[in-house]
Amino acid sequence: MFYIYPPSGKISLHHMENSVFTRLDYLEHLYSDRVKYFHGNFEFLLENTLHDRVGHFTLRLLAALSSDLWTYWSVREVLLFKHRLAKISSKLLYKLLRSFSQQIKPFNSESLIQLTLYQISILYLKPHIFKHLSYNHSEECKLYSCKVRFELLPNLIKSRKVTINAGYAIIYCSQWKLLLESLFFTYLRYEVNNLTSYALRIIKTDQRLKVLYQRIQKNIFKSETKYGIITAVNINTESNHFPPCMKHLHTVLRNKHRLSHYARFTLSLFLKDCGMELNDAIIYWKEEYSKEHNCNSVCLHNWNASEKKFIYSIRHLYGLEGSKKDYAAPDCSIICKTMPGPKYEGGCPFQHFDEIHLKHLLSSSLKERKLMNFIKTIHRRKPNEACAEYLKLITKRTQILFISNPVQFYHMLNKT
Ligand code: SF4
Repeated sequence: MFYIYPPSGKISLHHMENSVFTRLDYLEHLYSDRVKYFHGNFEFLLENTLHDRVGHFTLRLLAALSSDLWTYWSVREVLLFKHRLAKISSKLLYKLLRSFSQQIKPFNSESLIQLTLYQISILYLKPHIFKHLSYNHSEECKLYSCKVRFELLPNLIKSRKVTINAGYAIIYCSQWKLLLESLFFTYLRYEVNNLTSYALRIIKTDQRLKVLYQRIQKNIFKSETKYGIITAVNINTESNHFPPCMKHLHTVLRNKHRLSHYARFTLSLFLKDCGMELNDAIIYWKEEYSKEHNCNSVCLHNWNASEKKFIYSIRHLYGLEGSKKDYAAPDCSIICKTMPGPKYEGGCPFQHFDEIHLKHLLSSSLKERKLMNFIKTIHRRKPNEACAEYLKLITKRTQILFISNPVQFYHMLNKT
């Protein structure tokens, strides 16, 4: 439950994915206090089993790739730890403390958190203290205590649950669960920070993990989507939170009142996945396509002449007509690869635009000097890395490393 090192050996991709998605599903049920409605396979969640460890360590690795996934996962993972700790038997507690003292080598350990875990396990494993902890004792009990560096326990310090003396928090025996819970969070944060560059390297080379990461992002964002965030009325304001690719399409549509087929398809699905309701989508497209086009656009349709067709195709994208398929907004990798024709207005600006057009597009969010510096740094980068760098700049975040879908960009910027 408080794992220090990942398991070794092999596991099939299928089992790894099941371990991860079952865990995410359970964590979400736990977080929303709906555990009794969880119908997943508990086999993947049994403590100290290979599946439980694989689910935990895979998410630990992927959480190092974005602050959003880290925030989402860490809160829930700590809750699971707390939940398990609340029901822990003396036997399992003994095993847990032993696992710290066996796995952590105090003389090789460079981190304060590992050293602290080792020292606590040695103290709590003393027979008389262990016996004392294993039996229910008063919540006020202060018979035994230990000292822990205050920076390891930010949650306890913030909630003023401990006394501080000369840089150390005094933890009484009645607070041992609070102590382990707080150290668990600190340990995860420490590990995830250390894993960042490794995670970034591995996601670039291992297609399986890359796809898994994208699926997790979609899964989490999708469940967070509330239809109706973007409306036909507020879309101009909301477009300030769009990624450059979608902001560009929205601007072209507003100026020229037409888009080519594939650009229309891409923008529609993006708006749908960001939460635009069907009626708003119809109003949005009707508003533009009812106007005279003012360009040599490839699309010469007019709303009044083809209203039924337009409505049918929008409903189709919402999964309400034809095959009733649930279409999803294309990923960055598809947008970067697809150039359906010379008159296509879309694409990824970091891949397909020349410097002048890219500067013009980004100039509304970045001041001249920042923009120039940014442009200088991106020419050797992959489009989604450049996009993540751009998002970092405009949000002043430090931990966005990977953009895989325009919807992800919108959600990240919206949450800032
Ligand atoms: Fe859009 Fe993706 Fe390109 Fe960013 S990297 S501009 S989200 S296609």
